[in-house]
Amino acid sequence: MTKTLQHYVNGAPLDGTSGRFSDVFNPATGEVQARVPLATPAEVNKVVAAAQAAFPAWAAATPLRRARVMFKFKELIEKNMDRLAAAITAEHGKTFPDAQGEVTRGLEVVEFACGIPQLLKGEYTEQVGGGIDAWTIRQPLGVVAGITPFNFPAMVPMWMFPVAIACGNTFILKPSERDPSAGLILAELLKEAGLPDGVFNVVHGDKQAVDAILTHPGIEAVSFVGSTPIAEYVYHTGTAHNKRVQALGGAKNHMIVMPDADLDQATDALMGAGYGSAGERCMAVSVAVAIGDKVGDALIDRLTPKVRSLKVGPGMDKEVEMGPLVTRQHLEKVRGYVDQGVKEGAKLVVDGRDLKLQGYENGFFMGGCLFDNVTTDMTIYKEEIFGPVLSVVRAPDYESAVKMVNDHEFGNGTAIFTRDGDAAREFASQIKVGMVGINVPIPVPMAFHSFGGWKRSLFGDHHMHGPEGVRFYTRMKAITQRWPTGIRSGAEFIMPTMK
Ligand code: NAD
Repeated sequence: MTKTLQHYVNGAPLDGTSGRFSDVFNPATGEVQARVPLATPAEVNKVVAAAQAAFPAWAAATPLRRARVMFKFKELIEKNMDRLAAAITAEHGKTFPDAQGEVTRGLEVVEFACGIPQLLKGEYTEQVGGGIDAWTIRQPLGVVAGITPFNFPAMVPMWMFPVAIACGNTFILKPSERDPSAGLILAELLKEAGLPDGVFNVVHGDKQAVDAILTHPGIEAVSFVGSTPIAEYVYHTGTAHNKRVQALGGAKNHMIVMPDADLDQATDALMGAGYGSAGERCMAVSVAVAIGDKVGDALIDRLTPKVRSLKVGPGMDKEVEMGPLVTRQHLEKVRGYVDQGVKEGAKLVVDGRDLKLQGYENGFFMGGCLFDNVTTDMTIYKEEIFGPVLSVVRAPDYESAVKMVNDHEFGNGTAIFTRDGDAAREFASQIKVGMVGINVPIPVPMAFHSFGGWKRSLFGDHHMHGPEGVRFYTRMKAITQRWPTGIRSGAEFIMPTMK
């Protein structure tokens, strides 16, 4: 019997009533392990009503009280780390240590949110005019929603809700229907941490549920992370319904390898950043730009044996470096890109398309693929593949490499490997990308900074978590005050100016 998952509303699990379900697979075996209900707009309305009802009391709770829930939640995540990681590996397929790393990066946002009393402090000026004082405060928005992708089922929701909730909002999570269980475990832990019912809710669904969220007048703001076409749609639909929206999209992250770089370090960096989590990371490096053929040949020589010997297998096996892809459909899509690369003339140096694993014949596995001589007109260069496929592009010089990155439609992350401080400084300043690494392949900002790309990798104004997260989930109010001794008599009909 496959398990039927439930929504989580008002502090308790709730059966879906739509009669529509989506299968949740174990990507290592190919078996359906659960089915997740897909909500109707009417079900979404009920969740919004629960979150609206919980809002006034939660917004009125002191920041200290909200922070204390976060402190307790942090403790519970630490206690439940392995349970969360196992749920992620079972549904997503990534290796268990990689899943633990994901939970830890989410936990860091919870730690950031523990400091909310400090983060919500406003500014104050005494005596802006005679006997007049002014200050600003930041107040929560109301009900806010998060729509999240399959590739980080715990971390991406945790980029959003700890900050949103600590600021005094109530939250509705619409997790990816491909790996929905981590969100449900987090809901349980929040309740155990003392979060009042209705402050955090989970509603599962597909486009129907997302559209209901985007058009619901009771939802003030939407945070989205996923592919670019959907991010763009979410941004335009949500803002057309007068919501604040931050929508993070896809990526094609380039790593430039300069002739003076340590090539062994660069190779190791490319292996981890290209093939970790089977390339299903928005900060994965999918393009290595070698400056000059000498660097290109050296990288291919070093990468080839390593890609061939990648240890691929089920994520719970200790020795495994790369797990399966998330679904058969996604596996076919990634294989299709590799076919297309070959057709368009790129040199497939390592071909992992037909990997078969004994005992896991129905799992969604493929081996690492390595392309050389990829050019900027090829589909595999232009589009996000989101699989274990690394393309090596050869550029004659630094300037043409920078132009390549700047001309690409995506601008999520990028890196340069070099020993030249001048080149690195110039790169950080000139590159049109939101997150830049200098000898760091995956430059994901820490929780107390903010995460976000440029160009078609982000629609909206605010990056996620850190100070940008606090700004996104609050509205500023400016207050000007005087008391009777400061009030001049008589009405004033001209624009007031302070003296
Ligand atoms: P996706 O766009 O398919 O799905 C994301 C969310 O949107 C899911 O909750 C899904 O249910 C919903 N959705 C899907 N189709 C929809 C539709 N037609 N209308 C409304 N909602 C819809 O993305 P995914 O495959 O789950 O995740 C992978 C993508 O996410 C990649 O493109 C990756 O780069 C991106 N990503 C970006 C970041 C970032 O920070 N920029 C982080 C992680 C993932």
